[in-house]
Amino acid sequence: MDLLELRDVYKIFERGWIRKRQGAQAVSGVSLSIEEKGILALVGESGCGKTTVGRISLGLIPPTKGKVLYRGRDIWREDVLRPTGQLVHQDSYSALNPVRTVYQTLAAPLHRHGTPRRNLKHEVQELLQFVGIMPPEYFFNKYPYHLSGGMRQRLVLARSIIPKPKFIVADEPVSMIDASLRLSILDLMLKLNRELGVAFLYITHDLATARYFAREGKIAVMYLGKIVEAGQMGAVLEHPVHPYLQALLSAAPIPDPRLARQRKLMALREAEPPSAESPPSGCRFHPRCPYAQEICAREEPELSEYANGHRAACHLMETLPEWRLI
Ligand code: SF4
Repeated sequence: MDLLELRDVYKIFERGWIRKRQGAQAVSGVSLSIEEKGILALVGESGCGKTTVGRISLGLIPPTKGKVLYRGRDIWREDVLRPTGQLVHQDSYSALNPVRTVYQTLAAPLHRHGTPRRNLKHEVQELLQFVGIMPPEYFFNKYPYHLSGGMRQRLVLARSIIPKPKFIVADEPVSMIDASLRLSILDLMLKLNRELGVAFLYITHDLATARYFAREGKIAVMYLGKIVEAGQMGAVLEHPVHPYLQALLSAAPIPDPRLARQRKLMALREAEPPSAESPPSGCRFHPRCPYAQEICAREEPELSEYANGHRAACHLMETLPEWRLI
């Protein structure tokens, strides 16, 4: 059984006080699942609805329609506890109380979760060591503004594991951190996954960090409120089927300048995505898709099997030219 499953989930946000005005459809029929101890990277442009999916997964907001199942039980219908998940978001500064020291930031929730006062110092030390804030005693009396962005995110992750969560929704956790430190934070999250068995929903616009973090897990690509491609990370990135993912890959940075010069950028018909308040008919990607045909504007493609659990939502996925980066 999956740890968490979203089944055909919709979320519509009403706009303003004129209730009759059509709201923004942030999420539109999203189904996805995360296995126990699994990793799922949810990738897409800003405003595609991925943060809303994260908040729905944690039970922070209810879906307008559809089900959120935690270990098979509907968290909004049955009288079950909200999923034991934690949220880690990009702005570690605002996630921390600026007038609490590092010690206080960890000691208060540890005590709330049952650690007796006499053991607090030792447990705070162990937690700081575990997340790589060393030497722990040196940081006890530091405030968030004394710490680098990377250190703050380590502290947020240390605090997030105190309730022993089954999963963490990490929403762009490294986007405000220096590029040189990003991998170390992703490695720390992998350590939480491997050593503590915490499952992750990793939300990002950055394919490179998604590929690194979820290399043994799964990816779901979101476009304008819908999942357009999903499957095992390796299989999906080796044979991307949906033109949107192909366009993302063709625009992703390549470290080797020689290869970067040779690659062919995929030209979209329009640069900007349409508004979520009035999504295009049929395939939502059709106004930008270089392969769009008449059926694309008329009929919405289903997310259907391409190969061995690799699924895509494109009418023409069997006939599109094979994608090549170079
Ligand atoms: Fe492009 Fe049509 Fe496929 Fe949509 S369904 S991605 S418009 S080819």
